[in-house]
Amino acid sequence: MNKKLQHKIFQIISETADEMQLETYVIGGFVRDIYLHRKSKDIDIVTVGSGITLAQSVANKLRNKPHVNVFKNFGTAMIKYKDLDIEFVGARKESYHSDSRKPVVENGTLEDDQNRRDFTINALALGLNKSNFGVLVDTFNGIDDLNKKIIRTPLDPDITFSDDPLRMMRAIRFATQLGFEIQPETLQSISKNRDRINIISGERIIDEVNKIIMSDKPSIGFKLLEETGLLKIIFPEFLLLKGVEKINGIGHKDNFYHTLEVLDRIVPNTENLWLRWSALLHDIAKPATKKFIEGQGWTFHAHNFVGVKMIPGIFKRLKLPLNEKMKYVQKMVQLHMRPIVLSENVVTDSAVRRLLFEAGDDIDDLMTLCEADITSKNEDKVKRYMKNFLVVREKLKEIEEKDAVRNFEPPVKGELIMEIFSLEPCREVGIIKDAIKEAILDGLIHNDFNEAYEFMLQKASELGLIRKI
Ligand code: ATP
Ligand code: MG
Repeated sequence: MNKKLQHKIFQIISETADEMQLETYVIGGFVRDIYLHRKSKDIDIVTVGSGITLAQSVANKLRNKPHVNVFKNFGTAMIKYKDLDIEFVGARKESYHSDSRKPVVENGTLEDDQNRRDFTINALALGLNKSNFGVLVDTFNGIDDLNKKIIRTPLDPDITFSDDPLRMMRAIRFATQLGFEIQPETLQSISKNRDRINIISGERIIDEVNKIIMSDKPSIGFKLLEETGLLKIIFPEFLLLKGVEKINGIGHKDNFYHTLEVLDRIVPNTENLWLRWSALLHDIAKPATKKFIEGQGWTFHAHNFVGVKMIPGIFKRLKLPLNEKMKYVQKMVQLHMRPIVLSENVVTDSAVRRLLFEAGDDIDDLMTLCEADITSKNEDKVKRYMKNFLVVREKLKEIEEKDAVRNFEPPVKGELIMEIFSLEPCREVGIIKDAIKEAILDGLIHNDFNEAYEFMLQKASELGLIRKI
């Protein structure tokens, strides 16, 4: 274990702390991750005294004399050393008032500092002074909880969560990332205190949600969010997917669990947060578009298009970026059924060309989403779909090699059309441009200047245009 403290930086901190006679520890996530054999580049150092002074002395001893970033208001200082982020803080005691997450802070002992930590597994400390170098201080049996894979607050959970409700999100996030159970009393306390989440900023909440989404099995987190009632507060649209309605004995699938399955299924195939968000949102408009039609059963007509319209509102409220990331998610949601529909029919060149044109460089991501979307319990059906997807993928490759239609720009531009027929920008130019694009997508002509030029002349004469040059 002490192997991890063999990093030179701990020796330097240790010497400095001894010289300054400061009782000093490495604490929190870094220590937890040593025991879990997880990689970690954030080091938290706590000292009984001034963290800022200690940081400055440590920086002075380092060969490259790194800059010390001081946050006076928080009494903390940061050093970047090689690939490590090291934060120094004085041990503190915190007391909270009910209307704010901002505590009143006083200097304290190591134990005071451990008391203000969120979970027992995050309150472990290793001594750094020579007299206790590498000795574990485990005031709340955090090691026991690590071994039992349990998330538990060090103090009464009602106090811990009410003091800083973000900890409820963190509990669920750690349970998801680490595959741990939340101890029953702690879990009940989250349900009880859920409304306190309203005092936390959207940015901090979404950070935790994104960490859940980036975990190996995000469904764990979303099920816990649902179970504790937090989901209803932070992301009600998603909760609406839950449940099965029956008419004349006919039900539809539960789209909440279906969506979580799709999300879990996409995880091994992508580290792209936004593709994972696309999985989460692909059916978001199913509740809004649901209809029972006699003889046909349940339909969710145009749920992809309605989903696209819902996304800006959702992104805005969740403090997600309203930029090209959002546009990408919208595109994925809009197109998410296309490869399936394609694979259900004869895979024609023209259908494949159109899909390539619309998806552009995101075509592989779209296929990944679509494959994850096949969650039927019927194994034969799944096999059949997967086989058809292979055909679609082959065909995509073949057409792309032959016609290069991904991201294609029609080879004859509007300016040229205007010049040849001496036109100002007008409807006819648009019609001709569109006709050229359609002809290429339909395979009537190749994606080639000469063919497109000939086609343009023909189309223009149909429109009665007279060539001027
Ligand atoms: P990760 O870095 O993977 O997010 P971490 O446990 O290191 O996990 P940080 O946010 O880096 O989390 O915080 C470092 C340590 O600070 C935690 O281990 C915990 O002891 C403490 N901590 C962080 N946030 C809180 C909080 N909201 N309430 C109480 N303690 C906290
Ligand atoms: Mg950390």
